[in-house]
Amino acid sequence: MSVLIYANTANGKIHKSAFEAVAYGSKIAADLGTNATAIVIGACSDAESLGEFGATKILHANDSKFNDFDPSIYTQVVVKGAEAEGADVIIFSHDFSGKSIAPRVAAKLDAGLVSGAVDYPSTANGFTVKKAVFSGKAFANITINTDKKVISLLPNSVDKSAKGGSASVETFSPEVGAATVKVKEVIKESADLPLTEAEKVVSAGRGLKGPENWGMIEDLAKELGAATACSRPVADMDWRPHHEHVGQTGVAIRPNLYIAVGISGAIQHLAGVNQSKTIVVINNDPEAPFFKSANYGIVGDAFEVIPKLVEAAKAF
Ligand code: FAD
Repeated sequence: MSVLIYANTANGKIHKSAFEAVAYGSKIAADLGTNATAIVIGACSDAESLGEFGATKILHANDSKFNDFDPSIYTQVVVKGAEAEGADVIIFSHDFSGKSIAPRVAAKLDAGLVSGAVDYPSTANGFTVKKAVFSGKAFANITINTDKKVISLLPNSVDKSAKGGSASVETFSPEVGAATVKVKEVIKESADLPLTEAEKVVSAGRGLKGPENWGMIEDLAKELGAATACSRPVADMDWRPHHEHVGQTGVAIRPNLYIAVGISGAIQHLAGVNQSKTIVVINNDPEAPFFKSANYGIVGDAFEVIPKLVEAAKAF
């Protein structure tokens, strides 16, 4: 038995969320007294860096035919990797690629799946994994009873610092079926800092009155090294691009710091952000519902408060 961790890539390099998944899988492997193997699919120039996060071996399926993300093919590669390694626990990051492959791998291996885990499994009484449910309002502890277990880890859930180890990279060349996806065009994300990876997010809502007022939000985000986000009406009105919309019907995020400016705090908005570690709400209505979920609140006009915060951040 061993632990296999799928390490996803972006632009030919290991994706930030994969380091956390590898650190997570390596700790589980250590607790189970077994090895942690990372598997990388497609072009990747820094696969060996996964050793620093605890992987003891790295399989790299580096044939150019794997360069385009094809969930069906990637599923086959991970399943073959699990078989080659005799892996009983397979870990993914709960992001775009992990969400599409993890359920397929679980189905192929007859494995129980917990998607969106937020903590290490407990092995005291079975193999029990904690995940957020009901839009983050509660947690469920789910025991996986199958021999093989698949977990996708919600980003920003566990310690992801490098531990300083090293591991060899082995070329992995599994036989797989024909591709099911033909990539016609790749459109790069416009944001410098993808929302789901950001540790700090500055988000604004209808209280900003119009798209022409987002300059101060971008200034604050730049000073803090944060990504920008928005409420749904703001994206619906085309004040901001749709990929910035967070909430129940938008992106779910879990940054260390979420600053909400001129957002009322509707339940559908909270569903995507209430797992943030620290929430700061800026609203001119002291009765705004968002204050109930805030760690820090500023009752004030965003047009007065934000420029002052930008100045303070610049001076810091
Ligand atoms: P508003 O509700 O208009 O709130 C604006 C806030 O700005 C107010 O609290 C006001 O006091 C404050 N304000 C005004 N002027 C200022 C000022 N000068 N300075 C400071 N504060 C000021 N919404 C999402 O965001 N994400 C979702 O994923 C989502 N999914 C939905 C799914 C469904 C099925 C439904 C029905 C709704 C969904 N919504 C979602 C919409 C949600 O219900 C709210 O309507 C929306 O979040 C409100 O956006 P808002 O807070 O920007 O605007």
